[in-house]
Amino acid sequence: MLTVTKLNKTYPNGIQALRDISLKIDYGIFGLLGPNGAGKSSFMRTLATLQDADAGTIELDEINFLKNPQSARSILGYLPQDFGVYPNVSSEDLLDQLAVFKGFIHQQQRREIVAQQLQLVNLYEQRQQKLGTFSGGMRQRFGIAQALLGSPKLVIVDEPTAGLDPAERIRFHNLLSEISRDRILLLSTHIVEDVAELCPNMAIMNRGEIIRSGSPQALINALHGRVWTQAIAPHSQRSNYEQGTVITSRMSRGERWVRVLSDTQPGKDFQPAEPDLNDVYFIALLDKPQSPTITV
Ligand code: ADP
Repeated sequence: MLTVTKLNKTYPNGIQALRDISLKIDYGIFGLLGPNGAGKSSFMRTLATLQDADAGTIELDEINFLKNPQSARSILGYLPQDFGVYPNVSSEDLLDQLAVFKGFIHQQQRREIVAQQLQLVNLYEQRQQKLGTFSGGMRQRFGIAQALLGSPKLVIVDEPTAGLDPAERIRFHNLLSEISRDRILLLSTHIVEDVAELCPNMAIMNRGEIIRSGSPQALINALHGRVWTQAIAPHSQRSNYEQGTVITSRMSRGERWVRVLSDTQPGKDFQPAEPDLNDVYFIALLDKPQSPTITV
């Protein structure tokens, strides 16, 4: 169990990126969902021991990450949001070099591990291909191969699906699900579908705070009977609701659909709707404005 307690971080420019973050994260995939600027990367970088926190603790297997980053690094793998590769190096050569940095000093053992990892992420056939020729999806799969060097108990992947095409996204989801069986995999994303499809547990983050956490199903169930929908003319921005709060207003199959949160029917043309994770997400964001807090 990864336990994070009251983690706080304010950058020198006054932006408070992490505000009292407390979470308990068990084995499997945990989704951290939030809009851009919510503080996800700040949280991920802190977990990956790449930056300090001002206060709080992070513990896994009795290792205190902030006091003992060296030990933490031996049990974690990280795929950063801006994972750069050397374009003129082959995936096999770069992974071999990264394995040296991870402490695999025996060449034969390293060769086997590199081959194993490339097979796992389905890049073995392309092992001699230069990384610069890889598609976005292949690059992300290579990123997973390097994050898994040394069989870490905790793998942190920061916004890995942004920019992937639908087929690459499915392939990448399957890979994440496969590698999460015997470890904690922490996935940050601003894409609701990533969490809906992959994560048995999740948290929503906004303005440096955790504003919801639990299983997606439990969070959806809590909205049962409170989401209503109505089709309006495509170019109309107006909905004739008398009570409640608009959650979303968007096009679907050529029609504009308004969804409203209300304990009772908000207006005469409204039908009850099955709540989904998008409702959970947008309702959570309604609680607070999205701009970061600046403390001076
Ligand atoms: P997310 O990953 O959810 O998009 P970030 O953690 O990147 O969010 O950013 C959270 C807030 O902290 C943003 O307002 C961002 O501008 C600010 N921020 C992030 N990194 C730094 C930094 N190194 N110095 C100052 N401000 C930062």
